[in-house]
Amino acid sequence: MTVVHSAELIAVGTELLLGEIDDTNSAWLARELAARSVDVYWSQRVGDNRERIAQAIRAALDRADLVLLCGGLGPTEDDLTREAIADVLGEEPAVDAALERSLRERFGRLGRDMPNGNLKQAWLIPSAEGLANPAGTAPGWLVRTAIDGRERYIAALPGPPFELERMWREQLSPRLSFAESAFVATTLKTQGIGESHVAEVLAGLTEASNPTVATYAKRDGVHVRIAAKGSDRGAAHALLAPVLAEVERRLSGHVWGRDDEELPALVLALLRRRRVLLALVDGASGGVLIDRLDEAGGPADDEWPLSTAVIAWRDDALAVLGSALPAAASPEPAAADAATVAVHLAELGRARCAADLCLALAPWRVEAMAGTPESAMWTTAWAVAGPDGTEARRVTLPDLGHGWRRERVAFTALVALWTQLLDT
Ligand code: AMP
Ligand code: MG
Repeated sequence: MTVVHSAELIAVGTELLLGEIDDTNSAWLARELAARSVDVYWSQRVGDNRERIAQAIRAALDRADLVLLCGGLGPTEDDLTREAIADVLGEEPAVDAALERSLRERFGRLGRDMPNGNLKQAWLIPSAEGLANPAGTAPGWLVRTAIDGRERYIAALPGPPFELERMWREQLSPRLSFAESAFVATTLKTQGIGESHVAEVLAGLTEASNPTVATYAKRDGVHVRIAAKGSDRGAAHALLAPVLAEVERRLSGHVWGRDDEELPALVLALLRRRRVLLALVDGASGGVLIDRLDEAGGPADDEWPLSTAVIAWRDDALAVLGSALPAAASPEPAAADAATVAVHLAELGRARCAADLCLALAPWRVEAMAGTPESAMWTTAWAVAGPDGTEARRVTLPDLGHGWRRERVAFTALVALWTQLLDT
């Protein structure tokens, strides 16, 4: 049996091209293939068009051991994956008696007659084997063919993710053979450093092919993923370890977590461990800050380390704190005063809410850039007030949208809080 070293993905469906549904199947399958050390160099989406699907299969078959299609196995006229595979191989589909029987039984169990259209779901071609679909009506196909004397596979899985995932796990992947090698990966999560700066710092490492080092800009900062492939897990780890150590060294001071770790959960855990009661005064994230902490929650029987959260949509909402904005900063504080406002709010919040620490975000100030009204800069500041004083810093962000800005400032503030808690 040919060992599958390379694969190509073809997701079929016009709705994918129109952006009406997200192609989550390709992402899911790509992860499954990566975990089995299969290289995927091409992944494409193609509409419900017989000729174009066939064209995509032909090109893929030239380049990969396994051509993996998903979608287009439904009973309707526009489900054309089977037809396209048959075209490529020059074979004629015919109803398979066993598949037809199991389809009719399936409809029978539901107390329904099988519509004629569904008969094509019982089709096979001579070089295809049917893959059972216990979760739906469309069986999959596994086709064995050869190019230049080398065995190749074409597989077709149904579009609905639940059916596809089950069929891959139970039917398709056990029929294929994968290399013995193992794949290991670690993701480092950073803050306070932009993606292009990270790339600069990691120069020389990101060009290597094993281990690979790749950067991804996420809402909670830039992630750096280090991945290695070896003949077994031990060998893969041996390759990974020195590169991981080097990446950590170069990014020292910016890494706040790795893999599944989430910043809000880390902050809550530190608050609990240090027995610190926190208050929040949020004039900038519109509640995202408290929402992320609440989501990270933790066990119900653990003490909740937050005393109070004041969320303000507008400056005047901060009046609940009493003399919320310092006189010097009102009525229209300049962007430069954001830190002053944040310090004032943090100290006020700490006193009024009887907390050990108070994290405050000043209300946003927007500055239009001269001549370019669309590229306004948004400024706020975070401040953390504690028993030993108050620390504050301004944060200026470009106008990349409301939600993005709120999330970014929430994570920036959480990092500031986390750093302070580490030092206490
Ligand atoms: P189909 O097999 O093409 O009839 O697709 C059936 C249904 O599966 C679609 O209506 C979508 O809801 C879902 N689906 C199809 N392709 C994908 C895909 N690439 N990613 C996620 N869902 C999909
Ligand atoms: Mg479809």
